[in-house]
Amino acid sequence: MKALEEKILREGKILNGGSVLRVSSFLNHQIDCDFLTEIGAEIARLFAEDHVTKILTVEASGIALAVAAGAALHVPAVFAKKHKTSNLSGALYQTVVHSFTHNTDYTVTVEREYLCPGDRVLIVDDFLANGKAIEGLLDLIAQAGAEAVGAAIAIEKGFQEGGRTLRARGLRVESLAIIERMDESGITFRH
Ligand code: 5GP
Repeated sequence: MKALEEKILREGKILNGGSVLRVSSFLNHQIDCDFLTEIGAEIARLFAEDHVTKILTVEASGIALAVAAGAALHVPAVFAKKHKTSNLSGALYQTVVHSFTHNTDYTVTVEREYLCPGDRVLIVDDFLANGKAIEGLLDLIAQAGAEAVGAAIAIEKGFQEGGRTLRARGLRVESLAIIERMDESGITFRH
């Protein structure tokens, strides 16, 4: 998506010697609502024929994009919670995810009533790096007896293994911008 690549080039900041991209000005801290609405519409266009019944993401950074995609597809957006809270009913799906950005393991949880057998689930997230967040969501979908129709990602870091691994296991992964390389000299996209 050309507009996303241009926005990354304009506003993105490369951190940690080229392993982390900061796009907090529009995607996952401050949210550019109009722009996320455009991304949501593009995701809806890509999965228009797939009879999606639900969007699934992980809190917190995927939620804004999940809502934009859910609004465009007219389906609910569910986010897996990172902390077990007292208002969860007890009937839960849970799995453990390794965090790329924090280098720790955390448990994610979805209440059973929000992920059902027969659901056709589209995974949405802001970034794809090593693919652990998506693998965790696939595990929750499998536990629910639902079906994963694919994953829609705003920014895939193509130099990390997640995209290759997930596509090799047969998942349809649609990334709106794929970064081939990033370092102090700039960012190159894969087309
Ligand atoms: P993965 O599980 O694919 O290794 O990492 C994906 C998750 O880590 C995403 O949900 C995202 O929140 C976070 N993440 C991975 N790489 C980056 C990055 O370069 N920048 C930001 N802002 N988040 C990232």
